[in-house]
Amino acid sequence: MSKRDYYEVLGVSKSDDEKAIKKAYRRLAMKYHPDRNPDDEEAAEKFREATEAYDVLTSSDKRAAYDQYGHAGVDGQAGYGGGGFGGGAGGFGDIFGDVFGDIFGGGGGRQHDPNAPQRGSDLRYRLDLNLEEAVHGTTVSIKVPTLVECDSCDGTGSADNSKPVTCSTCGGHGQVRMQQGFFSVQQTCPSCHGRGSEIKNPCRKCHGEGRVQEQKTLSVKIPPGVDTGDRIRLTGEGEAGANGGPAGDLYVQVSVRQHNIFERDGRDLYCEVPVSFVDAALGGELEVPTLDGRVKLKIPAETQTGKLFRLRGKGVKPVRGGAQGDLLCRVLVETPVNLTERQKELLREFQDSMEDTQGHHSPKKNSWFDSVKKFFEEFKN
Ligand SMILES: [Zn+2]
Ligand SMILES: [Zn+2]
Repeated sequence: MSKRDYYEVLGVSKSDDEKAIKKAYRRLAMKYHPDRNPDDEEAAEKFREATEAYDVLTSSDKRAAYDQYGHAGVDGQAGYGGGGFGGGAGGFGDIFGDVFGDIFGGGGGRQHDPNAPQRGSDLRYRLDLNLEEAVHGTTVSIKVPTLVECDSCDGTGSADNSKPVTCSTCGGHGQVRMQQGFFSVQQTCPSCHGRGSEIKNPCRKCHGEGRVQEQKTLSVKIPPGVDTGDRIRLTGEGEAGANGGPAGDLYVQVSVRQHNIFERDGRDLYCEVPVSFVDAALGGELEVPTLDGRVKLKIPAETQTGKLFRLRGKGVKPVRGGAQGDLLCRVLVETPVNLTERQKELLREFQDSMEDTQGHHSPKKNSWFDSVKKFFEEFKN
């Protein structure tokens, strides 16, 4: 297959400069790029042809060789032809970054314009609170490691306050083209690390970064009612932005420690209250704790273990509004320990007294024995 003349392919003349060639190529590439012409063999071929022409004519060595010897002067320098330009591998932004950068900019803008303002990263801080702090709200002082604008150079990164100069290695692109045969591959500039500019006399405090790592102390107001998993956003308290971009946000992530008396379930609190079996049997008044101090809880006679008593409004007022929750006290009837001989004697006496009126004193036990009896009867049949 005889190749068309490269100048003809791009529709330029032999005297046109690189800028004109670039422009002509861009026009063709826009038209024939495989991403825009899926499954179109003819377009793919036109694109390959234009790319090949572009590559030769924008390289002064190859262009000279081509001008002198025609295709013979440049063919065989690289294995051109096998795949490479299919939708996938390498493709667009990477290989043709500088050609397409300003056309397809948008999403990839950050990569192509290293000097564009960049928003700082968001930071997250895990804050452990005890239950009282979470329920009542508090103000805490937290230390956050963060990048802040360097105060010795006002963020310029320069020791003598001079403006950064365009990087001489990449000419300000932040990327350099590496020639690999006909392909030119974009790489981050090794001199400026993609910034596109250099600081000749870098600030000694921040080494030219314009930002320094610091511990910053923040006073954070925790509203009453927060719970584990709640986040408090502190706008602009995250990492400082680059190139004049805005700072990120700081998210304070609340984690409430376990309490040794109360357990929280949303707006309700639970606690266990041990009672003597005498109090449980005769009824009485217990003193139970709440987050606001002690309150009296009356329990009726014949209270069974495990019974829940609800104290309305003694729970948590939710941070997102709504009624205050309740405190639920679970009564645990306790078996007495360390009994004296006299106490044991009284209990035996008490036990004997129960025998005369069996069937009236242990509702649960009675119904349980009935169930067991029934179970074995069915078992036998
Ligand atoms: Zn550079
Ligand atoms: Zn500095």
